Amino acid sequence: MAQESLIPPTERAAAGDGKKSMTAAASRPEQAPVASLEEELNPWLAQESRFDFAARKLELDDGMWKVLRQPTREIIVHIPVGMDDGRIEVFTGYRVQHSIARGPSKGGVRYAKDVSLDEVRALASWMTWKCAVVNIPFGGAKGGVICDPRSMSQGELERMTRRYTAELMEFIGPEKDVPAPDMGTNEQTMAWMMDTYSMHQRQTVTSVVTGKPVNIGGSRGRLQATGRGISVVCDNALEYLGMQVKGCRVVVQGFGNVGSNAARLLFEKGYTITGIAEYDGGLWNEKGIDIPALVRHRAQAGTITGFPGAEAAESPDVITRECDIFVPAATENVITSANAADLKCRILCEGANGPTTIPADEILASKGVFVLPDILANAGGVTASYFEWVQDRMGYFWTEAEVNERLDRIMTASFHDVMSYAQTHGVNNRIAAYMLAIDRVAYTTRQRGMYA
Ligand code: NAD
Repeated sequence: MAQESLIPPTERAAAGDGKKSMTAAASRPEQAPVASLEEELNPWLAQESRFDFAARKLELDDGMWKVLRQPTREIIVHIPVGMDDGRIEVFTGYRVQHSIARGPSKGGVRYAKDVSLDEVRALASWMTWKCAVVNIPFGGAKGGVICDPRSMSQGELERMTRRYTAELMEFIGPEKDVPAPDMGTNEQTMAWMMDTYSMHQRQTVTSVVTGKPVNIGGSRGRLQATGRGISVVCDNALEYLGMQVKGCRVVVQGFGNVGSNAARLLFEKGYTITGIAEYDGGLWNEKGIDIPALVRHRAQAGTITGFPGAEAAESPDVITRECDIFVPAATENVITSANAADLKCRILCEGANGPTTIPADEILASKGVFVLPDILANAGGVTASYFEWVQDRMGYFWTEAEVNERLDRIMTASFHDVMSYAQTHGVNNRIAAYMLAIDRVAYTTRQRGMYA
């Protein structure tokens, strides 16, 4: 089903005209080879390398290349927090704003032990490209705090969140930078951030963050939106490749927000979910796992293991078994040069951000795997976040059906935009998505003019 392109014809023509008038980037390096495992697993280097490749294909001029390659602003904060036992602990936090060319910067906040500036940088840049792929009026940002949220009490998490927010007061805001949840943070974290910002502003400002509880300005459908977007791009990919939903076997890695919702929605659409891989063990059922029953089991047991409707399996084994679609929805760098050759999926649909390293990409390409890249496949979350921001600013809220209908339309159109770039430029889907995004951000940057 062909969808109307989100790219206005005039914008495409003007972007092309702009390119011709600029200096071609002959002096820039080709995509650098990955020298070590450490380099392979560095998400910022991966982002840079893919950006460079796509920018070269677009013949982006040197000046624009330099502007779009680096984040606009990187903030580091050291946050003192009173712990429950009376100690003062100091946590390090980051907020990286990559681009505000197309609107306020937008991106989640991650609480994890291994957060690093390079990771937050990469995630911020991916947000810029992701928002541009789905053509919503946001730039990209990301935040993170180095901590172990599982070992902290609610009180400690609240105090850390409030102090982190207070340190960022002048840098965030509905028209500046709009945080959201990511790994280790949730609706409650966003409620604390919104309240802290509002206390300093002396008025309630719901649109300063998205991913809030529905009763304080959250959007219906936001919690399920990333999983829903994944199911929509999977539907489109099957149609594009001439495959059927009936009998289509899916393996999902990670049964958190993204993975469990993607699995549930795909299950409801008639896909057969044969495998689930979690950090503490995996499940396999050739005939298909009853996902709503697994969700109930996990809610009671706190883990997917011990579920009676499937056989237990090792997680690394589950992700390499034969299937039609593999959805990594856990974390970065799970498909590397060490295991990419073992994957036996026809389609890789990236629910997580940055799950595939550059050497792994090359291996998957040689195996003919059809990749739905992260900046397209998991963009349903930020698209619904955009809807939340719009509703907060209107003070008027949509039904879940309205949110879903708009989300499905945007995800389908974005899928076809990426396919169209892939065909026109003869590149793989990931580079096509980067090219589409860079083209849009560069176009807006040229239109605004350079304040240099
Ligand atoms: P989450 O914390 O809710 O879920 C992650 C799940 O993955 C957890 O259940 C965890 O136990 C599991 N996990 C972690 N490491 C694993 C491993 N090595 N093997 C198997 N399972 C593992 O997080 P989430 O919000 O679902 O996010 C997952 C990924 O999707 C992240 O990369 C995130 O950046 C990305 N993402 C999330 C959203 C969103 O709306 N939440 C939007 C876009 C992208």
